[in-house]
Amino acid sequence: MDEDERWMRRALALAMQGQADPGSSPIGCVIIRDGQVLGEGYNEVEKRHDPTAHAEIVAIRRAGEQVEDWQLRGATLYSTLQPCGMCSMASLWSKVSRVVYGASRAQVHRLYFEDWHVDTLEFFSDAVRGGIEVKGGVLAAECAALYYGPEDVVPIPEQANI
Ligand SMILES: [Zn+2]
Repeated sequence: MDEDERWMRRALALAMQGQADPGSSPIGCVIIRDGQVLGEGYNEVEKRHDPTAHAEIVAIRRAGEQVEDWQLRGATLYSTLQPCGMCSMASLWSKVSRVVYGASRAQVHRLYFEDWHVDTLEFFSDAVRGGIEVKGGVLAAECAALYYGPEDVVPIPEQANI
């Protein structure tokens, strides 16, 4: 199996754990370096009463604790959903070398993102630190199936961002 698909499967499994865990959401993230898991997690915003507890931030914090270094150079961050603006910036600051995501912003409901007009992928292409690889669409259909689609009617309690 393709390495990226292999680790996206791990992120998908984390997303499903998040779905089953009250106060969490089905967004999964795993950070890999040299075939080793440095950190992983899922969205725990409701559970922790913390708007920054997105899957990517949870995984970045755990990876930093594990390697005792805030710089995750050479690592790849896998997320089931295209990172939001906050997580795109956190990925940049963490110095991961690659960001790989499953479902893209266009495939899901707008509630998952904070801004209509800013293309957060430009955060990577315009980054001061060059050479960061971003790859989307890995197991995209499976990832997108976890989320409300662009035209879905979302129950009011779940309209997190609206
Ligand atoms: Zn985020």
